[in-house]
Amino acid sequence: MADDSIAVVDLDRCQPDRCNYECANFCPPNRTGEECIVTREERHGDDEYYAGGPDQISISEELCLGETCGICVEKCPFDAIEIINLPQELDEVPTHRYGENSFALYGLPAPQEGRVTGILGPNGIGKTTAVHILADEITPNLGRFEDEPNWEEVLAEYRGTALQEYLEDLQDGDVTVARKPQYVDKIPDTFDGKTSELLAGVDERGVADELVERLEIEAVIDQPIDTLSGGELQRVALAATLVRDADFYFLDEITPYLDIGQRVTAARLIQQLSADDRSMLVVEHDLAVLDLLADALHVAYGEPGVFGVITPPKSTKGGINEYLHGYLENENMRIRPGAIEFEEHAPRTEGYGDTLVEYPAMTKSYGDGEFSLEIDAGEIRQNEVLGIVGPNGIGKSTFAKLLAGRLEPDEGSFDATLDISYKPQYVEIDQPMRVDAFLSSITDDFGSSYWTTEIANPLQLERIMEQNLSDLSGGERQRVAIAACLSKEADLYLLDEPSAHLDVEQRVLATRAIRRYTENHDKTAMVIDHDIYMIDLLSDRLQVFEGTPAERGHAGRPMGMREGMNTFLANLDVTFRRDERTGRPRINKPGSQKDRQQKNAGEYYYA
Ligand code: ADP
Ligand code: ADP
Ligand code: SF4
Repeated sequence: MADDSIAVVDLDRCQPDRCNYECANFCPPNRTGEECIVTREERHGDDEYYAGGPDQISISEELCLGETCGICVEKCPFDAIEIINLPQELDEVPTHRYGENSFALYGLPAPQEGRVTGILGPNGIGKTTAVHILADEITPNLGRFEDEPNWEEVLAEYRGTALQEYLEDLQDGDVTVARKPQYVDKIPDTFDGKTSELLAGVDERGVADELVERLEIEAVIDQPIDTLSGGELQRVALAATLVRDADFYFLDEITPYLDIGQRVTAARLIQQLSADDRSMLVVEHDLAVLDLLADALHVAYGEPGVFGVITPPKSTKGGINEYLHGYLENENMRIRPGAIEFEEHAPRTEGYGDTLVEYPAMTKSYGDGEFSLEIDAGEIRQNEVLGIVGPNGIGKSTFAKLLAGRLEPDEGSFDATLDISYKPQYVEIDQPMRVDAFLSSITDDFGSSYWTTEIANPLQLERIMEQNLSDLSGGERQRVAIAACLSKEADLYLLDEPSAHLDVEQRVLATRAIRRYTENHDKTAMVIDHDIYMIDLLSDRLQVFEGTPAERGHAGRPMGMREGMNTFLANLDVTFRRDERTGRPRINKPGSQKDRQQKNAGEYYYA
């Protein structure tokens, strides 16, 4: 008996009519006559199937031998079963379980009045479940889905913790909640009308005009919601949440599709609202922004889809450091085999391979010069990852189209046409097709050992291969799109915002996949991203775009990391210091001593 293990059955995958119960036939306790794996009907009788169908399986966590056995996990042809030993350090009762053999959440975040509380952790670890509880949409059952506890029992469990007061208010019905959804792309499915109408309908605090100005959404205020770009939708969704008059605001990812300037503005607006005695809870995977934004931080760890643990609050700095280090100190918990590390000094710029392409100074404008782009002459090197930074709407895609020969420059001539494999910022792959069919239609290497090692594994595609593209979450779709981009034969791989909707682990793995692929195959990649940590980990050199979005852009020549970061961050007027313990870059408070010193020295990043 292994009472410290958890068995989770994915009811969307469990298809007993197609497998003959291989799991039950081979389960060792079953073979000695015990009822470890039986059907739900066998376990619960006629009238109580719990979730799922009567023929789907029920695993007894009391009888199961645990992860070291794992025979059923191997036998199931549909990957429907997960058996995981819970960490020994975890001696709590779960906060909530959705039902038998389903996901278990341990702990809860504790929102606090007047503070911004962050949550840092992978996708699928229970953050949304926790918020459903804090919003009074799920009453926590302490894992007792068979005899649900009453509120008194729940409160007793949290007495003396940071959550007690919040839960008491919740029980009294005293908490109002406003929330921003994770996937803003879905807003047009539920709202039909203009931006102004959306905001007017929720402007409980009468501050819509101010937020429209601060978030720079005037230009789209009269546009129908279904015509907005992802970056515009993200800012409208933020405004529509922050204009509400609530006690508790939940913001599930604020950065996808926003450039760095917009990220910093969003962070400041959230902080301002918290100062008005509101509780703000933010899930965020851009660590520089999370660090800037949060007053306290909960780390979430566990096994996505199986169990998640939300730690008690930590300091923001300490929580991020522990997360990057891969070891949670108070919990005595290793969450990753190795640390994620940043170089404190700018990497070398010499010694790279041959030139892939040299291009002359060029200009390009659209229409009657509504937007014009000026490009400095430069070269892209064989085998490098060139990071591209700058605001949205500044001409980055236009530059790529010139390189691909899909646009002609107005001035300057460029006739080398590069074959470019492009991943757009907004990933739309909604064909009614399975992931494996889609990827094998792109490359003959699909399924080869090199493709599996270098692309499928780091991008964690194995578990979603048999799913339909249209059923994927935002992060899953992003990983498929990165894989598709890298799998094509091309001279140059151009990836626009690969970090969007990926959690921190996935960003690191995607970074490794892109780097390793370019190194091992003599390929060149250009990566546009707004997550400064991802740009830092990815890039050999940087190209900086500056100017006024939608009016005038300037593309600098590709340069070394130090010069590039200095140019880019000077435009933004933002400096980074280094964390004393880990060397991790941290945004300085504007006007602080470090900020002033570094600006005087012209060292914005590698100070
Ligand atoms: P996150 O917000 O961290 O991505 P979620 O809280 O959305 O995570 O989900 C955590 C896990 O809980 C997922 O594996 C999901 O499949 C499972 N889950 C969510 N809702 C339900 C439900 N109603 N019934 C059973 N399982 C659920
Ligand atoms: P970025 O990739 O940096 O977001 P783009 O190169 O896509 O920028 O666009 C720069 C500007 O040019 C934007 O204002 C965009 O609306 C405008 N633009 C892009 N393509 C066209 C086009 N074909 N016709 C007119 N304007 C365009
Ligand atoms: Fe049976 Fe548990 Fe082994 Fe699965 S892991 S075969 S349920 S004992």
